[in-house]
Amino acid sequence: MTRSILIIEDEQEVAKLVARHLRELSYVVRLAFDGESGLREAQAEIYDLILLDLMLPGVDGLEVCRRLRAKSQYTPILMLTARSSEVERIVGLEMGADDYLIKPFSIAELLARIKAIFRRMDAMASSTQSDATALAIAGIRIDPATREVTVRGCNVSLTGKEFELLLHFMRNPGRAYSRAQLLDMVWGYSHEGYEHAVNCHINRLRAKIEQDHSRPKLLLTVWGVGYKFSANGADHKG
Ligand code: CA
Repeated sequence: MTRSILIIEDEQEVAKLVARHLRELSYVVRLAFDGESGLREAQAEIYDLILLDLMLPGVDGLEVCRRLRAKSQYTPILMLTARSSEVERIVGLEMGADDYLIKPFSIAELLARIKAIFRRMDAMASSTQSDATALAIAGIRIDPATREVTVRGCNVSLTGKEFELLLHFMRNPGRAYSRAQLLDMVWGYSHEGYEHAVNCHINRLRAKIEQDHSRPKLLLTVWGVGYKFSANGADHKG
């Protein structure tokens, strides 16, 4: 299966170097050197992955990410950033990017990340095929086939990571997971010192699914461990 990758990066030397390595691995690669043409390209064709530079002239990487995530087509996004402050990283993940890499990065590391994303996509596709059953627990309904979520009858829109987290929890009600386990399962590997990214996503999920997100009844904190989806919620179907 030939994978296609769109690189949106204004540093043309970097973009071309990365493209050359990816083509050697038989990926189909397209280049865009600014946000606007990148967005156009991403919407004109379906890509398997987008490598997206954060700092772009004009429409920047975050805005590109935001606009792409507003569409229903779900393409994994790997953010490239020279800004290493944690806030920026979190924002990158919260915007719906699937992963990020701090510049300067090695080609070997980039290729490893890309392969990890494709492995995860394959795993997700096969688990969707084998188990596309919609789940309904305590007023929350989640449908892996359509990626739709309703909360007490209302549609809610989740980011890719929020969706995967919720699906994982609802498939395993009552089971507690550590932040490191959740990172590993949903992001594909542990980002060192990155557990607070999980907390952010849990808080956002709570705001979307709990009746009172300051007193969660569904996504519970398990002190000293991490989080679980309430098994009691699973008992009374709603
Ligand atoms: Ca740049």
